[in-house]
Amino acid sequence: MSAPKKLFIKTYGCQMNVYDSERMAEALGEKGYVEAKTADDADMILLNTCHIREKAAEKIYSELGRFKGLKAAKPDLKIGVAGCVAQAEGQEIMRRQPMVDLVVGPQSYHRLPEMETKIRQGEKALDTDFPEEDKFEKLKSRPKAKRGPTAFLTVQEGCDKFCAFCVVPYTRGAEVSRPADRILTEARDLVERGVREITLLGQNVNAYHGAGENGDLTLAQLIWQLDKVDGLERIRFTTSHPNDMMDDLIEAHGTCTKLMPYLHLPVQSGSDKILKRMNRSHTAESYLRVVEKIRAARPDILLSGDFIVGFPEETEADFQATLDLIEEVKYGTAYSFKYSTRPGTPAAERPQVDDAEASERLQRLQALLSRQQREIQESMVGREVGVLLEKPGRLPGQMVGKSDYLHSVHVSDCNREVGDLARVRIMASSTNSLAGELIR
Ligand code: SAM
Ligand code: SF4
Repeated sequence: MSAPKKLFIKTYGCQMNVYDSERMAEALGEKGYVEAKTADDADMILLNTCHIREKAAEKIYSELGRFKGLKAAKPDLKIGVAGCVAQAEGQEIMRRQPMVDLVVGPQSYHRLPEMETKIRQGEKALDTDFPEEDKFEKLKSRPKAKRGPTAFLTVQEGCDKFCAFCVVPYTRGAEVSRPADRILTEARDLVERGVREITLLGQNVNAYHGAGENGDLTLAQLIWQLDKVDGLERIRFTTSHPNDMMDDLIEAHGTCTKLMPYLHLPVQSGSDKILKRMNRSHTAESYLRVVEKIRAARPDILLSGDFIVGFPEETEADFQATLDLIEEVKYGTAYSFKYSTRPGTPAAERPQVDDAEASERLQRLQALLSRQQREIQESMVGREVGVLLEKPGRLPGQMVGKSDYLHSVHVSDCNREVGDLARVRIMASSTNSLAGELIR
């Protein structure tokens, strides 16, 4: 028997790409591929790319350049580009890097097995369609092998919101929700394989409206269905749009014990003028009202957000409004970015903020967010939290896992198994993690 072929996938960007990479590896598993730990060891390299910010495509071209030597030493090595850069650049990738064998967009990777056959015959394969068929229906069922205690599960893809800065509606296409029964089957299979926590994924996950037995389900209704899956201990979801934070979902945060007290709710800016120009369709005030309702339902919820600074025409006063909103909300963690011009999006054509000014604002914003993160972490000291143990730590007897609030926790003297949900007393807080002891 010949040795199995080895596949190395490098994943960039969001959690949806992490999920897609798993599914791509499984699709190519059908063709006999097993995981390669490094690119040097691979028979096929796939870059699963992200196009959300500037220079993404250039980074991919330079990464591809680094593979030239590998390809020269191993002519049978196949190189592919997947994800949103593949979708946006298409044929251009093969024109600029002729050694690339395969380019596949995020909606067509179910066709990878056929594309692999084609490239093994020495042809090129390009597929950046938005096909009629649902790729999840075409992908074979997932393998049964044991896996770690946490998993992502994509329930909704694409976006119809067209924020003025964002490429997602162009690279991922229109918003589509997967049927509830498929999601439940996938969740049960994951639990059988050892998964205890599932994070439901979507670009606008709370706009979920997948078909159920008696009509479309909301995200909250889907969560209640998942709540009944024996062995599934924790449910999370990301990313939510403030306008789609419906009352039943807010209520579920107060009543569904498997739904974790963590919510990623991007606002982008605290200035109504900028929010309008971003085409966000919410105001600072309406966002704050949503936050208030969520906190009324689940007072201890940890909030996280996304912020863009230096959006076209942002003044110091607009930026100050963002700082004020942050002061009011108090975020446990956050992702903040300098506005990055994306050709083809409406904001790209508008008067840009001076780069040095935007960098300086980003620094101020991040200083405030870091202070809030530190304060919230420190407020955890002395508290008892649930921790899902994910792996052994670096110190003898130590294990590492995530708290209900998604903090990394190092648990000392922990004689428990990976996948156990432990009760832990938090003893200390450091820059990006907490330390705790088992409550026996
Ligand atoms: N759908 C989610 C939402 O509306 O909040 C977010 C999806 S997007 C993949 C993740 C984040 O990237 C956004 O929330 C935004 O903060 C950031 N982002 C998107 N386009 C950007 C751009 N052109 N420049 C800077 N940041 C950007
Ligand atoms: Fe992009 Fe806006 Fe859609 Fe989020 S809601 S994916 S930021 S267009």
